[in-house]
Amino acid sequence: MNSIPATASIDDLERALRGLFFRLRTPRLRSHLQRHLRVARQTEAFDECYARSRRRVIRRLFARRVDDRWHPRKRAHWNELLETSAPHSPPLDSPDFHCDAGLGGLAKLLRAAGYDAAFFPGIDDDRLLNITATTSAVLLTNDWRLSQRGVFQHGVVPCLHVPITMKKSEQLVFVAQQLQLERRATRCMSCGGRLDRVERESVRDRIPPRTYDWGVDIHRCDRCDKVFWEGGHWDRLSPMLAAMPLATTSLATTSLAGRSLEATSIARPVSQPPQQPSPPATIIEP
Ligand SMILES: [Zn+2]
Repeated sequence: MNSIPATASIDDLERALRGLFFRLRTPRLRSHLQRHLRVARQTEAFDECYARSRRRVIRRLFARRVDDRWHPRKRAHWNELLETSAPHSPPLDSPDFHCDAGLGGLAKLLRAAGYDAAFFPGIDDDRLLNITATTSAVLLTNDWRLSQRGVFQHGVVPCLHVPITMKKSEQLVFVAQQLQLERRATRCMSCGGRLDRVERESVRDRIPPRTYDWGVDIHRCDRCDKVFWEGGHWDRLSPMLAAMPLATTSLATTSLAGRSLEATSIARPVSQPPQQPSPPATIIEP
């Protein structure tokens, strides 16, 4: 049986349960979702709550749908469906956002605002949907028809439709407002990796001599190894990021998956201690 790891958040649990009910086509059993999430919040026993919900759903479905008078092949089909219907729990280190083909500029701005955003130029809708469904990422799309698919409407995969008429800076403000995002330490705008401050001497052969002499802080991406320093580009970027409030909570360690519009009523767990707000990085331009 698939299970939710003990370190999963309430968002991971909610998403897994929504996925379970959706795949089993059991809308009437969704009332269990709220009850089990309430128990999970009280006890933090995510693993146990998920397993209990799954057992209950399967037992109900067996009672209602699998009949001894059915042909053995039909019974076997249902048994297999029920046994394999539980979704895999998403990896905990998946990106915060998946941006579809029309939102490459937004992906860069989200990285500058401290979020790990993957960008998929030229990908077809089904493949993008399948990739996103295996992670805890929120799908950002400006394709209205894609955002209307059942898997998004039922909250199985969190998705936000970004109006196609907006400029890049307006898209960032829109997403930040809709998902209540706060600004975190800047990530690599090329790939979304984390930026670590490094000694200038260690990258002397990779930066212009004048930049070395200026004594500015140098940062290196832990994913693609590019080096960055503050430049004129940052002056153009700063006003766009200024529209977002600075992070004051522990969002940096929690999943965004439950922050879809449909799931905004689900409260967050309070088990994680608050962290000091991290200042925005003073970066960027190679
Ligand atoms: Zn990078």
